[in-house]
Amino acid sequence: MLLEVRDLKKHFPVGSGLLRASGAVRAVDGVSFSVDVGETFALVGESGCGKTTIARMVLMLERPTAGAILFDGKDLAGMSGAGLKAYRRQVQAVFQDPYASLNPRLRVRTIIAEPILAHERSGRAALRRRVEEVLDVVGLPAAAADLFPHEFSGGQRQRIAIARALAVNPRCIVLDEPISALDVSIRAQVLNLLADIQERFRLTYLIIAHDLALVEHFSTRVGVMYLGNMVEAGPTDAVFDRPRHPYTQALLASVPRPDPDHQPPLDAIRGEIASAMAPPSGCKFHPRCPRAIDRCAVEVPAWRSLGRDHAGACHLAEGA
Ligand code: SF4
Repeated sequence: MLLEVRDLKKHFPVGSGLLRASGAVRAVDGVSFSVDVGETFALVGESGCGKTTIARMVLMLERPTAGAILFDGKDLAGMSGAGLKAYRRQVQAVFQDPYASLNPRLRVRTIIAEPILAHERSGRAALRRRVEEVLDVVGLPAAAADLFPHEFSGGQRQRIAIARALAVNPRCIVLDEPISALDVSIRAQVLNLLADIQERFRLTYLIIAHDLALVEHFSTRVGVMYLGNMVEAGPTDAVFDRPRHPYTQALLASVPRPDPDHQPPLDAIRGEIASAMAPPSGCKFHPRCPRAIDRCAVEVPAWRSLGRDHAGACHLAEGA
């Protein structure tokens, strides 16, 4: 496995009075999963479920409150110097909004060259070659290097962001809602490009998405999150065809499926997601769960196997 997340927590203190912390938002509350080389692992769930915070911790933009992130078996917390620099090179990101993620004052050549120069010494000619090489990989002409981001469409800008991520030969790319800001007409093209470069360079993807159709089409395994916890995880086809957790069932029921043989039970998600500062006792989903039993309000469900590489946390899955 390439990436492993173990019992990861991120609690944001909330201040009050004389800036003393009076509580904490438990954005991520003990999440574990692993991602194998060359696979696409998707994190899904409603806004506020913690999926973006996990991505930010993997990218070292946030420091975990507890737990560990291991890359190639090495704990990020213990990395420093050359090891840390190598990690930053090997794990790149493509963000949702290609309008915000590219500096409008820089030419594309400088945007793509920046990460290269941060990681290696490179002469002018070699740098020029590398920039033009990655532009070609993402389907843009060499002349694009001399233009500014505003001279491109949204889809082309996302290609530039992908080129920038590829420029340093990463092993893993975190894709944070990579197509949701793009026109529907060009989403498939960007997805195809991501699939092509994954195969060509044996990339591992961690994708954050709320678009379940995208996740079903694009990921190999999926983790469903609710209020800071993973509630179900497994191969994408198993989770989408036979969702076992009531939250996953409700989430999938909220989007139409093209295959009438694979329609999950029609349970709409009722009510609002609770506050991550004061989450419900027991199973955090119990106030909204159509199948809740008395025990759900008082006892946290254990994580248990639901089949081959498929697992979840629900009292009703006991004995599965
Ligand atoms: Fe619903 Fe109870 Fe299962 Fe939670 S543990 S998902 S409340 S049935």
